[in-house]
Amino acid sequence: MLRKISGITFLLLIIGFLVYKSGAESNSFNDQNVVTVQDLDEIPPTPPIDTYGFEEYRFDIIESRIERNESLYIILNRHGVSPETIHQIQLEARGVLNLNRMIPGQRYRVYKEDNTATAFVWRRTSTEYSIIRWENGVEIQHGTIPVEVRISTVSGTIRSSLANAISNEGVSQRLVVELANIYAWTVDFYGLRVGDQFSAVYEDRFVEGEYIGIGRIKAAEFEHRGNLRKAYYFDNGIQEGYFDEEGNSMRRAMMRVPFEYNPRISSNFSHNRLHPILNQRRPHYGTDYAAPTGTPILAAGDGVITEAQRRGGNGNIVQIRHNSVYKTAYLHLSRFASGIRAGVEVKQGQVIGYVGQTGLATGPHLCYRLYKNNSPINSVTYDFPPSEGLNQDFMGQYLQEIKKLDELLLSSKRGVDLAMY
Ligand SMILES: [Zn+2]
Repeated sequence: MLRKISGITFLLLIIGFLVYKSGAESNSFNDQNVVTVQDLDEIPPTPPIDTYGFEEYRFDIIESRIERNESLYIILNRHGVSPETIHQIQLEARGVLNLNRMIPGQRYRVYKEDNTATAFVWRRTSTEYSIIRWENGVEIQHGTIPVEVRISTVSGTIRSSLANAISNEGVSQRLVVELANIYAWTVDFYGLRVGDQFSAVYEDRFVEGEYIGIGRIKAAEFEHRGNLRKAYYFDNGIQEGYFDEEGNSMRRAMMRVPFEYNPRISSNFSHNRLHPILNQRRPHYGTDYAAPTGTPILAAGDGVITEAQRRGGNGNIVQIRHNSVYKTAYLHLSRFASGIRAGVEVKQGQVIGYVGQTGLATGPHLCYRLYKNNSPINSVTYDFPPSEGLNQDFMGQYLQEIKKLDELLLSSKRGVDLAMY
């Protein structure tokens, strides 16, 4: 009776399923509604299956959550699975599934046939699960639940901080972090002004109808002191990242601030500063960031470590040569990140060490220094060159994509909360 699945049979199966569904609901369908499906009675109705692919009519399905101090052993034992079988499961799970990772609150299902448990599903995360069967020998399978993505938009005006502006709009704080990352090179988030405006097009993610958080920001714009800066996400499998409307990268060859968040500047770059300890006037060829001891410090750009050691008043110092033009130095570190030593290559954003107050320092801070052709320059005011822009071959596709995103950005400002495409 089962035919080889050809494209047409597959189509019929789908139509059959639709008819089955509507038939089940209305309990009557007449020939006029069925259009021209002929082999209908040859197609078995698709039985309902649950999220994990189990046929619901075959099993008693017990869904619950892992409780404190519960293990797979305790749960299965309670459902009548023999210690020998559980032991067999534990053996088979080695290297495949870490059963010690069960956390109270995680969901699970036990499947029983004729009062005998034969399968267990462990929902490990909102989207990942593992199936354990032991009917004919132990079998372990992993699966993922599809994430539904809806495009949402948000816009707002800065009143106090970006975080406040966004939480007033009822949107996750995660969006603030993502926006800050996109604009890290181009907008000084500590220089935001009351009245600055922003809009964003972003993904909201759902699993089985339940909200699990935001996904990627697809487009954003910032109006900062009357300057409009747009950013669009592009990924065609070859090139990926955020670009402006002309295809210039939103990233810079170097980060302005070598931290994930902008700490307070406690002392600016100056040619003539009164030194807090020496009490003499001397140049300060760096920017001091006050941050708690242990705050991770990031490499401002790709490069090679040229120095990582303790050196006099500098304390623990790291120096990076980025290319033939730029060098950076990081002073007073409490310690170096593991593996950081002279000769090692680092990537932009990689943790190289931690804030401290070694050497001549009155409190925990980072003295961050930027050199261009061996001359110290002010990293706070310097206009960093952009990193590689969009390949010209992709510009056509890019411009088409951003046209759609622009419409969504515009719709967010008209007060439309949710847009879909
Ligand atoms: Zn300094």
